[in-house]
Amino acid sequence: MSTDADKILQTIFGYTSFRSPQKEIIESISGGDDALVLMPTGGGKSLCYQIPALLRDGCGIVISPLIALMQDQVSALRLLGVNASFLNSTLERDEETFIEHQLKIGALDLLYIAPERLLQNRTIALLKNTTIALFAIDEAHCVSQWGHDFRADYLELSILCKLFPEVPRIALTATADDRTRSEIIKQLKLEHAPHYVAGFDRPNIRYRIALKKNTKQQFLGFLKNEHQGESGIVYCLSRNKVDQIANWLKTQKFKALPYHAGIPSNKRAEYQARFLREEGIIIVATIAFGMGIDKPDVRFVAHLDLPKTIEAYYQETGRAGRDGLPANAWMVYGLQDVIKLRQMMQNSEGSEEHKRAEQHRLNAMLGLCEITSCRRQALLSYFDEHLSDACGNCDTCIEPPRTWEGTEFARMALSAAYRTGQRFGVNHLIDVLRGAETDKVFQFEHHHLPAYGIGRLLSANDWRSVFRQLVARGFLSVDIERFGALRLEEVCRPLLRGEAKIELRKDPDKASTKRQTRTPLPSDIDIALWEALRECRRSFASELGIPPYVVFNDASLTEMCQMLPTDFDNFSMISGVGERKLEKYGPAFISVISEHLASY
Ligand code: ADP
Ligand code: ZN
Repeated sequence: MSTDADKILQTIFGYTSFRSPQKEIIESISGGDDALVLMPTGGGKSLCYQIPALLRDGCGIVISPLIALMQDQVSALRLLGVNASFLNSTLERDEETFIEHQLKIGALDLLYIAPERLLQNRTIALLKNTTIALFAIDEAHCVSQWGHDFRADYLELSILCKLFPEVPRIALTATADDRTRSEIIKQLKLEHAPHYVAGFDRPNIRYRIALKKNTKQQFLGFLKNEHQGESGIVYCLSRNKVDQIANWLKTQKFKALPYHAGIPSNKRAEYQARFLREEGIIIVATIAFGMGIDKPDVRFVAHLDLPKTIEAYYQETGRAGRDGLPANAWMVYGLQDVIKLRQMMQNSEGSEEHKRAEQHRLNAMLGLCEITSCRRQALLSYFDEHLSDACGNCDTCIEPPRTWEGTEFARMALSAAYRTGQRFGVNHLIDVLRGAETDKVFQFEHHHLPAYGIGRLLSANDWRSVFRQLVARGFLSVDIERFGALRLEEVCRPLLRGEAKIELRKDPDKASTKRQTRTPLPSDIDIALWEALRECRRSFASELGIPPYVVFNDASLTEMCQMLPTDFDNFSMISGVGERKLEKYGPAFISVISEHLASY
């Protein structure tokens, strides 16, 4: 049965069908209910409030923390023929007055507002005198994240339910864990609202985690082989490293820009805007970058340092491939990352309990790195989602890691740590095991220990791998106060007593280039036509001052190349072509396609 919602989906947005659970959400909000929506990045949250706002009387108010991104969101809606606007501190006084007037006379379908702006008395008074279709609270996890920039303002949003009890409220987030979920419910008073949870799998993202050897060379290989000329995000732990990597990428002829809290805010805004508008930009960033960026064609996210938690890893990698086309989540890590992160946690403020919880979450992240089975299964199971088959689209599925019986060597490693008093870091322990004649060995008389020289069979690198895995699996912990000394944990006992065995992962000899991600383009596509369509898109985008993907995203262009529509009827069948875009851009794109066909 075709409903009004279906009709809007087709005529305005140009899509043929809803994704689950968009339709249910839209029906429930349109009927006046509240809702809590948990959906992965790229899942299609926006439609869940945009369509009800169009169906209901009055204007839909969208609360979003990111002023810099409102303009693009609004431009995208206007291209579809939706009357959208925003209110924030970037507007001139007369622009503001104009928008307020439009709101009063009921001429707006959607209005984007930053939370601090919404909470001003003046805005509240204005809204009180208008018909409001709904409140959509985007990035709702802001209420729960301790120390979050926008947290204080978000917390105050609880008054909406008191001031506008009859207006439906819909809170949306891509953050999955239970704690965040219950805090959103409590703080935004959504106890009675139904929850809608979409699966968290992102099947088009290929997860790959490798060992750090020579980070730059590994990364360069990846970029050159798989992502020449494409957009991506690179995450590093420190500002220093961000600057350094961005500069180095420039010397390698990539269009790279740095992004971190130490860069002046006007520069940051400029870099962000370039990332959105220009093609092929690589942003090198600390975790400060990325929230709310809904650029659909980010083809890769690379981590050059280990994220602190699986949530962070999931969130950050989730910024790749929102358009559903193939994308890479690529990471390299090593034991040094663990030591650095432990150090940061130790020096951070917060209770012992908090630190312990952080340590736990880091351990889970390490577990994901060292796993020998499907990474996607492990990742999803962390969010209590069960994937019955291995995915076939992660590195461990594509090239299953080899394992070896490491019990004997693990015992040697533990014994070396124990016999030296649990006061030394991995390098010295390896020296002891391999019988090295260093000053430190003689200074502490470690050449008299039974463990001295018993490990000559393994190379230093192999030992490093053994220690790393013992740390990752919680047999050893890193003592930061003692410069990375390795200490034995309770779980060692069965292993030391000979009651347990341990399988270790064999580190690959070199980064495998055997199977690369397909380029996002299906093989049957004519590159000349693809480029011509991109050029057409670019010229509209620059004329309108909007990012190219707002005109049509890559998925739409791909379809044009495959279906080759040369008239209005056929062009209107392309996903993402609604009535307004058909009328405005159809002729230009159709003529590009017709010319291309005629040239054969
Ligand atoms: P989110 O906010 O959940 O990250 P968006 O709302 O930005 O995701 O949607 C991600 C992409 O998916 C957008 O390009 C959007 O137009 C597209 N999309 C959403 N719903 C549908 C649908 N039902 N059919 C086709 N494409 C859709
Ligand atoms: Zn897999």
